[in-house]
Amino acid sequence: MTGPAGPGSLTVVGLGPGDKQLRTPAADAALAAATDIVGYQTYLDLAGPFRAEQRVHVSDNREEIARARHAFALAAGGAAVAVVSSGDPGVFAMAAAVLEALEAADDPAWHQVALRILPGVSAAQAAAALAGAPLGHDFCALSLSDNLKPWAEIERRLALVCEADLVIALYNPRSKARPDQFGRALALLRGRRAPDTVVVLGRDVGRLDEQLTITTLAALSPEQVDMRTVVIIGSSRTRRIARPDGREWVYTPRSYPG
Ligand code: SAH
Repeated sequence: MTGPAGPGSLTVVGLGPGDKQLRTPAADAALAAATDIVGYQTYLDLAGPFRAEQRVHVSDNREEIARARHAFALAAGGAAVAVVSSGDPGVFAMAAAVLEALEAADDPAWHQVALRILPGVSAAQAAAALAGAPLGHDFCALSLSDNLKPWAEIERRLALVCEADLVIALYNPRSKARPDQFGRALALLRGRRAPDTVVVLGRDVGRLDEQLTITTLAALSPEQVDMRTVVIIGSSRTRRIARPDGREWVYTPRSYPG
C-alpha cells in the first residue's frame, strides 16, 4: 500500500453501460480498492454503493478537465483514486481528459502517480449485441456533440464516412441544448445512404428502461433519439433477419461477395 506521504494511484474505471454483469472484475476490484471516487453523479450511482470510509467526490459532467485535475491532486497526495466513466473511459469520456491534464501538469508529483485505465463495454458494443452484430464489419464512432469540436467538422466527417460505407455509431446524438442538430445530421445521411439503410437505436442499454428499436433511415425521426441513446447507422451491407418471435436480428456480414 502507498502511504499518504508518497504518490498514490489514479485508476480511470470504465463501468460499462449500466448492468453490473457487464462490468469487468478489474473495474470492480479498482472500485473496492479506492479511497476516493471521483465522477459525475449518474456514474457514481452506477458505480456504488461505496463503503462508509470511501470518500465520494461529485463533479459536474461538463467539467472533465477540472475533474481530472482534482483526481490528480488527490492521488498526488497519496490517495487511491478511482475516476468513473460510463461505458469505456476511452470512448468520449474521462481517459483522454486525464491524460490531457497530466500532459499539462508542472507538478512532478502528478507524474509519479500510478496511472491505469481500465476498459469497459461501450454503449455501441452493448447496443450492437442486443441487436445482433451490426458492427460485424468495418465501423466508426462519432460524437455529435459540438461542445468540444465545431459542427462543420462533424458534418465533414459524416460525409466522409458515408463515402467509406462504414457502419456509424453515433454518440451524444441529440441534447436539449442542441435539439436540431440530429435532424441536420439525418438529412445529410439521407442524402448519402439508401432509404432502407438499417438503423438501430439503443436507449438506456443495460439499465432499467432499456429499449432497442430497429428501423430505417427513411422512417427514423429525431424525436426517437436523445442523449441516452446510441444510434447505429448501417452500411449498404447491413441486413435484418427474422427471429421466430417476430423480432429481428441485425448484422453486417464480414465477407464481401467475391
Ligand atoms: N464512454 C461512454 C460514452 C460517453 S458519451 C461509452 O463508452 O459508452 C455519452 C453518450 O454515450 C450518450 O449520449 C449516448 O449516446 C451513449 N450512451 C452511454 N451510455 C449509454 C447507454 N447505457 N445506453 C445507450 N447509450 C448510451
